[in-house]
Amino acid sequence: MGRRLTDAAHAAVADVLGTGDLAIDATVGNGQDTLFLARTVAPDGHVWGFDVQAAALALARRRLEAAGLAGAATLIEAGHETVEAHVTPRDVQGIAAAMFNLGYLPGGDHAVTTQPATSCGALRAIAGMLRAGGIITVMAYRGHAGGREEAEAVGKACEKLAVEGFAVTREAAPNDGPVLWVVRAPAA
Ligand code: SAH
Repeated sequence: MGRRLTDAAHAAVADVLGTGDLAIDATVGNGQDTLFLARTVAPDGHVWGFDVQAAALALARRRLEAAGLAGAATLIEAGHETVEAHVTPRDVQGIAAAMFNLGYLPGGDHAVTTQPATSCGALRAIAGMLRAGGIITVMAYRGHAGGREEAEAVGKACEKLAVEGFAVTREAAPNDGPVLWVVRAPAA
């Protein structure tokens, strides 16, 4: 089910994102989403990727280099809550797609997880950067310590965005399984 929701997130983004576009990977992790976004926007578009772990960024950098896509992404060793300081003013409100994959890095330090307040803050900030018709996907994992609380916080943040005019869908695996939100900015 987790796999299926990850595929659904990629499919939703692929519907919107194209070559020349601007995108954000809010949680680089093992770099799979960064690679997917970079491949989709290359050669003229750009991806900003955020992670607080240097090891995650190093792995993502190697993946991008192996694919010949290093120039299509800027990897930033900082929390996604600093997004407004890194995405240049010229590009604000031009983001076509952003992806969040919350929780901890599998195979990494399980103590380093995303946090409700910063995840929701970044989600709101990036929602404000979306171009007309732009999209954000958020995968949240409820099975680890703090995961359920984070998913609840994200759900509330998404409800607020829906009130503000964003189209929001939610799909969840049963019990403590993952949840996927897809947030879409109104079309022009
Ligand atoms: N749970 C997912 C993987 C999530 S990886 C799965 O099972 O597939 C989440 C990544 O977010 C980790 O690499 C972690 O270092 C990173 N992270 C933690 N806090 C962050 C923050 N504030 N901003 C950006 N990335 C963060």
